Amino acid sequence: MSSCNEGELGITDASSPHLSAWAEIDLARLLQNYRWLRRRAGVPVMAMVKANAYGHGLLPVATFLQDVVRADWFGVATTEEGVALRRAGITRPILVLGGFWFGQEAAIVHYDLATTLPDPDYLPVLEQAASQAGRTVAVHLEIDTGIGRLGLSPDQFAAVLERLKACPHLRLDGLMTHFASADLPEHADFTRDQIRRHTRAVHQARAAGWTPRYIHLANSAGLHAFLPEAAGNLVRLGGLLYGIAGDALSPAFPPPPTQPVLSLHARILGLKTVPPGTPLGYGCTFVTRRPTRVATVPLGYGDGLHRIQSNRGQALVCGRKVPIIGRVSMDVTMLDVTDVPDVALGNVATFIGSQGETTITAEEYAAVMGSIALEATTALTARVPRCYRAAAMSSAPGGREDAPASARE
Ligand SMILES: *Cc1c(COP(=O)(O)O)cnc(C)c1O
Repeated sequence: MSSCNEGELGITDASSPHLSAWAEIDLARLLQNYRWLRRRAGVPVMAMVKANAYGHGLLPVATFLQDVVRADWFGVATTEEGVALRRAGITRPILVLGGFWFGQEAAIVHYDLATTLPDPDYLPVLEQAASQAGRTVAVHLEIDTGIGRLGLSPDQFAAVLERLKACPHLRLDGLMTHFASADLPEHADFTRDQIRRHTRAVHQARAAGWTPRYIHLANSAGLHAFLPEAAGNLVRLGGLLYGIAGDALSPAFPPPPTQPVLSLHARILGLKTVPPGTPLGYGCTFVTRRPTRVATVPLGYGDGLHRIQSNRGQALVCGRKVPIIGRVSMDVTMLDVTDVPDVALGNVATFIGSQGETTITAEEYAAVMGSIALEATTALTARVPRCYRAAAMSSAPGGREDAPASARE
């Protein structure tokens, strides 16, 4: 059907030929990234799988990392995400970084989730739930050393340490902090100050007789710019794990060798030539100035292709960059493929990823929206099928699959 040779362009098409739009998730790259990061960190890695694994698919990604590398830890934002992991058979340690809301404490206990405590008021509730169940819950206290977000203020931290003494069913398992701007070289002193404050809090807890097992500070930007000071004995990594933190890392250090895991594709569903002066799409925001070959692809803001990409973004077709023309609508987007000689129905348009030598990175795609790559992949909605590619020779849309034998440990 297609006349440009997509095989030669390296359009891997891990999808079923029956899919018209899909995100391909390259598990071999995920594995390489994980292994490189684990070596670079020199300490255990908490694989951040919150927000549907940054759009890569919560359960397939976590199951893969548990089965293939026996991931040290998983990090999620919400209790619901932690419960979903346990129900899917994840048995490795899970930390809920956003803690729980009142009423969810029984789920924390029942599903053996480690949790933070964004306020001292959560302590008695969790203690009671754990005591009722006859279980012990691992607690990681986040200290606010400068981000001003979920962490405990110095007063709250002191209060929680004091009140923990009366909570025999809560175990202080970790002390953590989160960097506000480890990606900004001009804020390096601020980050070093965060590290110092965290170290002080760790000393404070130890002086009070606590022996937290995990000390963790670094996110991707922290790992990139602040090793070894920020290594602690655990690092929490999302962006670099998925190979997409390029725009969230300090430019003062060379980029790491991690590779993007996700690419986003759709097939040309419709193709027509219209005369000059033809308005296209809602609001008639684009009017052709030449005879124009218009390709319509089934991706829109209902899939997470943001409407702000209208008349701004680009895609790759037959290895060439072509512009999005007219408004991105909920379900479809138009491309100007006039300059693509052999374009045909069914050709693949790549919005994030490579065709041959040409690439649109998630960072470039996000820059069009004034955003960062993390938001671009995380915004992909449930309607986009995720196709998992573990090795060049096999694939299974939507499902889990085994890694190549050589990838097993
Ligand atoms: C999301 C998150 C991380 C991971 O950040 P990346 O920049 O994606 O590596 C680490 N720690 C906390 C508290 C987070 O919320």
